[in-house]
Amino acid sequence: MTTLLKAQPVVDQKIADLTKRCQSLIQKGKRPLMKVVLVGNNPASLTYIRHKKKMCETIGAEFELDQLDSSISKTDFLAHVEKLNQDSKVTGIIIQLPVSNELKSLRISQLVTPAKDIDGFHGHNTQWLYEGSIQTNHLLPCTPKGIVELLDYYQIPLKGKHAVVIGRSLIVGKPLSMLLSNRNATVTLAHSKTENLVELTKMADIIISAVGKAELITAKHINPAKKTVVIDVGMNTLHDKLVGDVKFDEVSPLVAAISPVPGGVGPMTVISLIENLILASEKQS
Ligand code: NAP
Repeated sequence: MTTLLKAQPVVDQKIADLTKRCQSLIQKGKRPLMKVVLVGNNPASLTYIRHKKKMCETIGAEFELDQLDSSISKTDFLAHVEKLNQDSKVTGIIIQLPVSNELKSLRISQLVTPAKDIDGFHGHNTQWLYEGSIQTNHLLPCTPKGIVELLDYYQIPLKGKHAVVIGRSLIVGKPLSMLLSNRNATVTLAHSKTENLVELTKMADIIISAVGKAELITAKHINPAKKTVVIDVGMNTLHDKLVGDVKFDEVSPLVAAISPVPGGVGPMTVISLIENLILASEKQS
């Protein structure tokens, strides 16, 4: 029987805790305020932003969207972010990706001041991962943090297990590989130039796909004797439906546990972001 690694029970548990912490901050006169900076009007970005807003409202935090014109210059954009960095009412800042072509040459991940960097992308925050920290009181990148918490909730052991992470982006694959290593998993980090992906995934105890290609992972990647755990990070559109990287119907009967898309990693990312907002606000108060 395959276990479905749904995010909802974890999210429900976290909402209760985060609501209490948010109330306590409000009583101290420090209401958490998430500010999202969006350049242009990318429809996918607007959908993600709606989820963030809804979750802020659920726990009683404030949410504001600054939607900037897609023609904004580098100078004006940098001035806008710096104003938010200096504004004591704003406790968490997100620069929603992607930005316009004009702004792509800026090192976006380094612009938000580390104390308000609730995405956890700034070098000051990612250094904890390099240093091997497993403490939860740092602003860690949200998707990797959410994935590890999903695995923990379902009591999937990491120590000594072989995790194959597919995709090496700065927001998912790389930080996740470090977080798993810090938790004593043995990690293989695969990417587009990896030559023997099927051999690697067949040896894995845990497969995590963060590529962005529908139906990349199929039955041929799974060794049914291994009782593999599969985490699907991908968010792709196939026949007008949101799907992950894993061909779910084919793979799920062959594995011990699998995260669904939607309802798996996505909500874990959003709740981790809210957790970072509360943590950042607590540290600032
Ligand atoms: P990205 O920056 O485009 O990185 C994709 C990675 O996949 C790259 O490292 C690339 O290798 C690798 N890759 C591409 N084709 C491959 C192949 N055939 N075999 C093995 N590796 C391959 O993507 P990202 O930002 O990490 O996002 C990945 C996916 O996760 C997307 O679908 C995104 O929407 C989704 N996502 C979901 C959440 C969530 O909360 N659920 C959060 C973030 C991202 P190279 O490095 O060699 O190019």
